[in-house]
Amino acid sequence: MRADLTRIKALLIDMDGVLYRGNMALPGAADLFSFLDDANIQYQAITNNATVDQQMVVEKLRRMGIDLTLEHVMTSGAATAAYLAEHAPAGARVFVVGEDSLVREMQRRGFTMAGTDAQYVVAGLDRTITFDKLKTATIAIRHGAQFIATNPDMTFPLEDEIVPGAGSIVAAIQAASDQAPLVIGKPEPAIFSQTLSAMGVAPDCAASLGDRLETDILGGQRLGMQTILLMTGVTTPQEAAASPIKPDFTFDDIPALLREWRKCL
Ligand SMILES: [Mg+2]
Repeated sequence: MRADLTRIKALLIDMDGVLYRGNMALPGAADLFSFLDDANIQYQAITNNATVDQQMVVEKLRRMGIDLTLEHVMTSGAATAAYLAEHAPAGARVFVVGEDSLVREMQRRGFTMAGTDAQYVVAGLDRTITFDKLKTATIAIRHGAQFIATNPDMTFPLEDEIVPGAGSIVAAIQAASDQAPLVIGKPEPAIFSQTLSAMGVAPDCAASLGDRLETDILGGQRLGMQTILLMTGVTTPQEAAASPIKPDFTFDDIPALLREWRKCL
């Protein structure tokens, strides 16, 4: 189907490099949401980061002058909990390798925290990882627990260093348990499909907006969504030109996207 901004009924929005960089809102970030509200287009702001919960994201955005409500924010932790709520028996036993926010997401869905007798092992970034946690996860999976990863990001950038991300912890458990996980976060389609089904929108009426080709754009394409790349984040014009991953639309920034979108409404 031909890409067409007028067909978009729902927008899944990446945050870092799209709405803000560091602790600074990017130009047009707040306008994007007034535009979507006025145009009756549904939206969710989505992050692969499972160490934050929806409330923390809402507060961070508010400090930058972007007002979103909880229902408009999806983290990979919340998506993982939503996925389990759909596919696991109610109250199932879960072992979490992750931080407090991820444990809270699981508890909020009524899952029971367990150890080596867990039916599901959910792994994400855990900055207090220990050998014991890796051991419990490994034993549970070897005893038959299903292995689920919040997101596959191997590293993430701090101010001036690259540090291990969720994917590095997931890789350690995978090595020890000899099991590959089901991955929920981008670029796997689960986080997008979970979000779209909650909104009641079909993928071909939705678009993924992001700054990273291998996650936001590839992930959207895998599900059959339209894709919009913004050049305000990690992708350089050279990389965009050289990459085999081609978004439907590329804009310099949010104001440029909104100018084009307003024209066709
Ligand atoms: Mg990004």
